[in-house]
Amino acid sequence: MSSIYEKYHLKQVINASGRMTILGVSTPRPEVVEAVNTGMNHYFEMKDLVNKTGEYIARLLDVEAATVVSCASAGIAQSVAAVLVKDSDWLLENLHVTPVENNEIVLPKGHNVNFGAPVGTMVALGGGRMVEAGYANECSAAQLAAAITPRTAAILYIKSHHCVQKSMLNVAQAAEVARAHNLPLIVDAAAEEDLQRYYQAGADLVIYSGAKAIEGPTSGLVIGRHKYVEWVKRQAGGIGRAMKVGKEGILGLTCAIEHYLTAAKESGAEMVAKMTPFIDALNTLNGVSARVVWDAAGRDIARAEIKFDEATTGIATGDLVQALKQGEYAIYFRGYKANEGIIEADVRSVTAQQLDIIYRRISELLKEKQA
Ligand SMILES: *Cc1c(COP(=O)(O)O)cnc(C)c1O
Repeated sequence: MSSIYEKYHLKQVINASGRMTILGVSTPRPEVVEAVNTGMNHYFEMKDLVNKTGEYIARLLDVEAATVVSCASAGIAQSVAAVLVKDSDWLLENLHVTPVENNEIVLPKGHNVNFGAPVGTMVALGGGRMVEAGYANECSAAQLAAAITPRTAAILYIKSHHCVQKSMLNVAQAAEVARAHNLPLIVDAAAEEDLQRYYQAGADLVIYSGAKAIEGPTSGLVIGRHKYVEWVKRQAGGIGRAMKVGKEGILGLTCAIEHYLTAAKESGAEMVAKMTPFIDALNTLNGVSARVVWDAAGRDIARAEIKFDEATTGIATGDLVQALKQGEYAIYFRGYKANEGIIEADVRSVTAQQLDIIYRRISELLKEKQA
């Protein structure tokens, strides 16, 4: 493994930030790597592969239909294209040539986020025009409904920690609005862990990122009602071609989903056990207080919250976060609250030895400052 780092002069990474695209997201289990390898080494009738794996996944998840795409962003773009093009052959081949008249995609304003790229860019790729409902800090079912016009093609709901959470309608309420207006509901649940609940809440299409919670290869999953998933699949002959998924991604993700549903996950309690010596060590440092915090979105994920008293440490937490990326190992944390002197360590992809390296690095940097 070190040879690749040496050959290309790459920096070694300790990932205490969670499933982050900028670090390569996740490291799939050996069975998934094997499935990717099998995919690489054989030919298939690709339509057959897409259809059969889709049916297999749909059965596993007890949903009407499923298909593998290249990533969740591609899933959003192709879902939007799907609800605009439907089964029109003309539009499939002329999506961005002949603009679709009724192309408005309504989403709560607080869901118009940047997940690493803007949601609106994916909507535009699919030929849609985004229309925001409600306000930055609230969107009720009535406010969502008020944004619907005869030009509306679908409702888009982003289920994510990136979004505004308070005073926000839930997926079931959005589904009710969609039904009442005879519109499809698309849910982007890219990083979510539950592969069934949004479909069960009434979404017509639900999109997941293959490498995040599911820990598959770079890929995406779209599940939903039969008609809509078929329309997504048709996009292989339209915009989907620019975001083609390969046999290795299809087989790797299918395998990863199967394991994801059956394999025991590292529990929050296990995460706490792993991080406790790390937290205890940090608490011996001057100006540092560490504790266990639980995932704000309610998932069974425990993280180490590390709070720096900048008056004592003498270093801005944002600068410390930067410095931690510059050592022998590039150490990445969740830095969303660095401006409040707080960082979080997500230990799911970190070994006990790596936690020790992190502790020593933090302690070194603080000693340099305090010396
Ligand atoms: C990660 C993420 C995406 C994009 O997923 P990719 O598979 O990387 O394209 C989209 N939406 C949300 C909310 C995300 O968290």
